[in-house]
Amino acid sequence: MNTEIIKIDPNNIDISLIDRAADVIRGGGLAVFPTETVYGLGANTFDPAAVAKIYAAKGRPSDNPLISHVCRLEQVYELAAEVPNQALRLMERFWGGPLTVILKRGANVPDIVSAGLDTVSIRFPSHAVAYELIRRSGVPIAAPSANLSGSPSPTAARHAIDDMYGRVDIIIDGGDSLIGVESTVVDLTSEVPTILRPGAVTADQIAEITGVCVYGGDYANAPKCPGMKYTHYSPRARVWAVKNMDDIPRDGNSVILTYGAGDYDRPVYNAGETAADYAAKLFYFLRRADEDGYGTVYARLPEEEGIGIAVRNRLLKSAGGKVI
Ligand code: AMP
Ligand code: MG
Repeated sequence: MNTEIIKIDPNNIDISLIDRAADVIRGGGLAVFPTETVYGLGANTFDPAAVAKIYAAKGRPSDNPLISHVCRLEQVYELAAEVPNQALRLMERFWGGPLTVILKRGANVPDIVSAGLDTVSIRFPSHAVAYELIRRSGVPIAAPSANLSGSPSPTAARHAIDDMYGRVDIIIDGGDSLIGVESTVVDLTSEVPTILRPGAVTADQIAEITGVCVYGGDYANAPKCPGMKYTHYSPRARVWAVKNMDDIPRDGNSVILTYGAGDYDRPVYNAGETAADYAAKLFYFLRRADEDGYGTVYARLPEEEGIGIAVRNRLLKSAGGKVI
């Protein structure tokens, strides 16, 4: 497939370029677009044939549902059978932004979007390019991350291009994703709001609105969030999650991935000062390790607080649970 690549400056959006991608969405094609979390691979939610192409392009298992991206509240009512008050208050507080809500699925949502579940997941991104693309398309956009299934999510246009060139109709380069880990997914159809995937919005922040919110994700049981059962976020290099940086073994062809201060006897990728900086660069550096030819990445496991909870989740998955 011929893939067109266009560059759009989020701070100075050229609507005629947005419309090239919106035409693709309306025409049943695939468009890769930037969001504040990671790059997305989008199609018209209401076009099952277009959505099927997403699964094919990624090599995504068909039982892993997709998030629909919206740009106004009315679209939530097109997608969900019911919109509880609690959901409205969360949307008001966290949208546009990195929070996905799971609601009861409405009659218009094709089976393939929800992978046969009776729920639907919805997010309103804050990224200006994503917003304009959804607005000009005029439909909700179903979009998983724009990586080949199993690889680290793309947070730079180049990484989306590496995985999706030749597999999609158009790729929008809108610069780097600022958050760097995927959205928080909160299930509002269970008795208690339950986080199925941690992200930048934490359980504590949600509980400020809903009174209570728990982290779910019992990996052993039949997953409500099917994404949880697959290998994820893995570069070719072997990844180890490191609790104590003093315990890293000697290993010639390895690189250390960390943030904050520290002196090391080998190559280091330093993601910045804070856990948020680390989140923003985690996937970027996992891919970079492959580009630079390292066989192993020793990556610092951050504290279990704030966005560190999401970083730990991604890192432990990409390490396949290997911890030092
Ligand atoms: P991705 O878009 O690739 O970041 O993946 C979306 C994540 O949201 C996956 O982990 C899905 O399993 C999860 N998800 C999407 N829709 C639903 C849903 N209706 N119920 C449960 N989990 C969902
Ligand atoms: Mg993904």
